[in-house]
Amino acid sequence: MTQIADQLQLIPPYCPNPNCLFHFGTKEHFYVKNGFIPTDKEPFLNQRFKCKRCKIQFSANTFSLDFRKKIPLQSEKILHYSMNGMSNNSVARNLRVSEALVRDRLKVMSRQSLFFEKNNSAKTILEDISYDGFETFTHSQFSPCYINTAVGRVSHFIYHNTFSPLNRKGRMTEDQKIKNKELILKHGLYPRDSVFEESTYIMEELSKKTKHKILFTDEHRAYQKAYRSRSLNLCHVTISSKTRRDPTNPLFPINHLHMLYRHFLSSQRRETISFQKHEGALLEKVQLMKIYRNFMNPKFVKKNKFDPHAHEWSPAMYLKITEKILNFEDIFGVRKLKTQLDLDQREKDFVARHYPYSRQVIAA
Ligand SMILES: [Zn+2]
Repeated sequence: MTQIADQLQLIPPYCPNPNCLFHFGTKEHFYVKNGFIPTDKEPFLNQRFKCKRCKIQFSANTFSLDFRKKIPLQSEKILHYSMNGMSNNSVARNLRVSEALVRDRLKVMSRQSLFFEKNNSAKTILEDISYDGFETFTHSQFSPCYINTAVGRVSHFIYHNTFSPLNRKGRMTEDQKIKNKELILKHGLYPRDSVFEESTYIMEELSKKTKHKILFTDEHRAYQKAYRSRSLNLCHVTISSKTRRDPTNPLFPINHLHMLYRHFLSSQRRETISFQKHEGALLEKVQLMKIYRNFMNPKFVKKNKFDPHAHEWSPAMYLKITEKILNFEDIFGVRKLKTQLDLDQREKDFVARHYPYSRQVIAA
């Protein structure tokens, strides 16, 4: 019954027509109710609307995360299960749905979470940042990669996580060397300066929002080169990888996050069989983890004697982006459209699942 009430009370937040004045949201009464159409799933009625200005028709479902989904109301559980260590296959078995459905909902949620983030990001950065790459792979060990992560030193807010493919190096058996050569002959090498490119991008983005703060990294050559290549509002301090990895280490927020990746994403466990099959899926999981960590959970689970708010404040609350820990509805309650936002090229590529160097076929 509550769903029927929701349908009757729904106030359309925007007009879905990208060419309409009301596309970007309005408090104005820009629509008329336009009858109901019966549907075959709860609440069995779908309120229809018409825009007064552009005359386009839409319905209550237009604004729901489950727009045009045959099986609704699965996403919240899928998010919580996936962000707490379950593989897509286990989630599917638990919910008695197909694994394809799980993958689809994760994809939809990752896009929606990016749109949410665009409207809820830090305007200025008032803390030092730790930056480093998380090393993993997609499809096979012949396609290693970095997730380049920038994390706030105090808030543990994840500011950025971008993707860099790597070419396999290091010790290989004779068979592996042959296989690696075959793959390179077939697909070519991965871009060689991606870590440099992505580090430059992240440093520039951070620099726009901060002044006189420190960027801590390890002694990776690409980070030093990236820092020197631009004039930035950041001081760069390198930390030797031999320095003890405890909470006093400036790279602790990064080490902590990478540990959480290994713990909470089943695809990132050592020796797992649920590894990510392609770049798109990997980045979508990491994007969801970003939202989950930044907005939906406290910085630490346990009380911390040096930081009295750590167990009750989310990283976004430290940055004063939000005033409380957000729930699923707060983030995914109203479906947003990509045409409502000003996305940069990386964000557009993420939404379109555009990975030109990928050796896999990735469905959009
Ligand atoms: Zn309109």
